[in-house]
Amino acid sequence: MEQRTAYWRVDPIKPDPRIMARAGLILRQGGLVAFPTETVYGLGANALDGLAVARIFEVKGRPQDNPLIVHVADRETACRLVCRVPAGAGKLMDAFWPGPLTLVLPAAPVVPRQVTAGLDSVGIRMPDHQVALALIAAAGVPVAAPSANLSGRPSPTTAGHVLQDLNGRIEVVLDAGPAGVGLESTVLDLTGDVPVILRPGGITREELEKVIGEVRADPGVDGRPGGEFRPRSPGMKYRHYAPRVPLVLVEGEPERVAARLKELAGIYRSRGLRVGVLATAETAGEYNGSRVVVAGPRQDPAAIASRLFAALRQLDELGVDVILAEGIEPRGLGLAVMNRLRRAAGNRIERV
Ligand code: AMP
Ligand code: MG
Repeated sequence: MEQRTAYWRVDPIKPDPRIMARAGLILRQGGLVAFPTETVYGLGANALDGLAVARIFEVKGRPQDNPLIVHVADRETACRLVCRVPAGAGKLMDAFWPGPLTLVLPAAPVVPRQVTAGLDSVGIRMPDHQVALALIAAAGVPVAAPSANLSGRPSPTTAGHVLQDLNGRIEVVLDAGPAGVGLESTVLDLTGDVPVILRPGGITREELEKVIGEVRADPGVDGRPGGEFRPRSPGMKYRHYAPRVPLVLVEGEPERVAARLKELAGIYRSRGLRVGVLATAETAGEYNGSRVVVAGPRQDPAAIASRLFAALRQLDELGVDVILAEGIEPRGLGLAVMNRLRRAAGNRIERV
């Protein structure tokens, strides 16, 4: 592998075809290219090349049993990776592709087991980003890509985050500015009778139900640890999205959350700890004496989603000893935000 990771800036709307051709060739030859999508930055490898895919697991330190999502630039490629297209899949592709919706479908034998982690299904999506689509088209192969971070860390929403985690371990990072949605795709399992959300993300349950009727949520989607369920999406069982510093999440009515956070901050400070607070705009002024990072207004979960991972990385860099985070209402995109925060908190969650 090269010593340093090449850094290529590209226009987010009209990427230079020569740069995309070079990056596509690197993928086709078995290299790893980090690229922007509308959700977060992805770490791509040729999905049909089991060895290239295995390197993704190696550089991220990703658990071997956590399957990868395959990214495609056209529906025909998606259909070639699947042995049976279940009812409803076409409608969902019409409605949400390109976009932050991953469909879990019965895998065709061409999909290497390194991608599916040995499952008989494969997760596929078409990203809504000109650079991602141009890269996949230039590669001429489907591209397996998890988030381009070290496993367990907050997902990268900028090329800078990618380099913080993976500099020197991958061939190229394409920089097209910050990712828009800021949270990963919704993962929807279509292999059973009723579609099941395995991971909440950029497309909400309400939006899905408008198109295909009843959708269930896997018991793991609210992100609470513990419980008896066996994860159907292997990714759900790992601590994830987490800053290095311990994070305590407080959920409930906004005023009570702020009151409890202030109390906790006082307790920690009296023990000589430096406290960071991940706050909503409405209550950010309440935390004198703590380092405060504002995620966004409670009224606008989409804004919080887009800033969440950058805010967690920022809190890490402030050199605090503990992070106290305000919960928001787990509805719509707020559910995806709370899924990530709960997973980042592990079992340090308080309800007030
Ligand atoms: P990441 O690549 O980090 O965005 O994570 C991908 C997520 O999709 C993980 O939670 C995986 O467990 C999930 N996933 C990918 N493929 C499948 C599949 N075939 N069946 C169930 N979950 C999947
Ligand atoms: Mg990830």
